[in-house]
Amino acid sequence: MSPSNGTENDVPHAADKKLHIIIVGGSLGGLCTGLALKPLRHTITILERNPSSLLHNQGAGIVAGGDTLAFFKRYDRCGRDLAVSSQCRQYLDKDGKIVHREDMVQNMTSWDLVYYMLRANFDGVESAYCKVPEQVRGEGDGEVKHVHGRKVTGVRVREEDGKVEVAYEDTTTEGRGQSGSMTADFVIGADGPSSTLRSILCPNVQRTYAGYVALRGTVPESEVTSSTLEAFSERFTFFHTKGIQILAYLIPGENGTLEPGKRLINFVYYTNFPSKSLDEPSAELAELMTDRDGVRHRITMPPGKTDPKAWEKQRQIAEERLPPQFAEIVRGTKKPFVQAITDVISPDNEFLGGKVVLIGDALAGFRPHTVASTSQAAFDAMILADMVAGKVSRKEWKRESMATGRFVRHKVGGGILGGAAEGVL
Ligand SMILES: Cc1cc2nc3c(=O)[nH]c(=O)nc-3n(C[C@H](O)[C@H](O)[C@H](O)COP(=O)(O)OP(=O)(O)OC[C@H]3O[C@@H](n4cnc5c(N)ncnc54)[C@H](O)[C@@H]3O)c2cc1C
Repeated sequence: MSPSNGTENDVPHAADKKLHIIIVGGSLGGLCTGLALKPLRHTITILERNPSSLLHNQGAGIVAGGDTLAFFKRYDRCGRDLAVSSQCRQYLDKDGKIVHREDMVQNMTSWDLVYYMLRANFDGVESAYCKVPEQVRGEGDGEVKHVHGRKVTGVRVREEDGKVEVAYEDTTTEGRGQSGSMTADFVIGADGPSSTLRSILCPNVQRTYAGYVALRGTVPESEVTSSTLEAFSERFTFFHTKGIQILAYLIPGENGTLEPGKRLINFVYYTNFPSKSLDEPSAELAELMTDRDGVRHRITMPPGKTDPKAWEKQRQIAEERLPPQFAEIVRGTKKPFVQAITDVISPDNEFLGGKVVLIGDALAGFRPHTVASTSQAAFDAMILADMVAGKVSRKEWKRESMATGRFVRHKVGGGILGGAAEGVL
């Protein structure tokens, strides 16, 4: 597939024309993009492969970086706070004593709160998380649709009319396996780090295993000892040792509550699991990624599915190797999940004469400790909407959105860590 030459002319700026825009993927990147494009009066259809209308959250945290906050300031109409703020970063030693501390305000939120706020704003989904804005469809907004159960399988430009045809497979119970297609003037791939669109457009680009995994989970702040609560209350706390990095912070609790006493402590515990690749996992990695029903997961072990025997091993290692406050939360979590850490970056962000673009994790899938993925999705959404509106040039859009991916990967991902076979931390 030949990438676009990035000229101004292949842009659907379309201040003068109403377009049909398809967004593939209805997670945070797809929703941010849909919401940012909505005021531009185009018709927007999100196609999400998940068979039910709402995505199942993993109940975990995300750091709300500058672009996430800027996005919500610009587009959110729910009128509630998004995050718990943390006042400082601190590092513990093995005995749990603070060895370094610096003032730094950061905002911590949860994936589910962000998701429901975006759905409330985009297509008026009601939930216990937030109020639906009074006017979900403002004057001049385009029509929007969020269609679940549509797994996109193909994309091409039709010779007869230059429209982009998106092929999909129905994943709903009623229509499972049936195929269909839809046409659009412009297609946005927000289909995540294993992007189908990217694999069609750049078949040589693969997700590669980084040599370690993240063990993740949460514990209610009301269930931990006072010294553990103190270590994580409004503090972003870290511990590093050979082969391990763990960090934890407070995030919103059930239904997004920010009320003290009802929030969750969220941890991300990186630990080496050397393996040549995910397709040929080492015995240790295969054991960790095989669930309680004997099913092997390649990249993500869903919450609550870990094999009790494999998880018990990790609980014991946590007891031996982590400061007591971190050991307590790792041992206390009831629904741990595991994410194999991977790298992937697309060589380009526009294809098929500029009629198909990639954003978010589909464009560059970052390692979680870069705390960049959601911010990247928010940034990509805002600058894409500005480009479609004609406020920034196509060249500027391309330079800025490609630069974000490259910068984060170079600075924080590939720059510091790397080398799957031997383990890297
Ligand atoms: C259910 C879920 C829970 C998550 N929870 C967390 C969390 O707790 N903490 C955290 O840091 N990050 C989490 N993430 C990842 C986080 O959303 C992303 O890293 C980041 O926000 C960038 O989002 P994205 O939309 O670009 O990619 P993703 O969030 O990966 O979304 C990609 C979307 O595309 C859909 N999709 C993929 N292929 C197709 C296809 N062929 N056709 C149609 N749709 C397709 C997927 O189902 C998914 O909804 C989660 C992602 C998901 C999907």
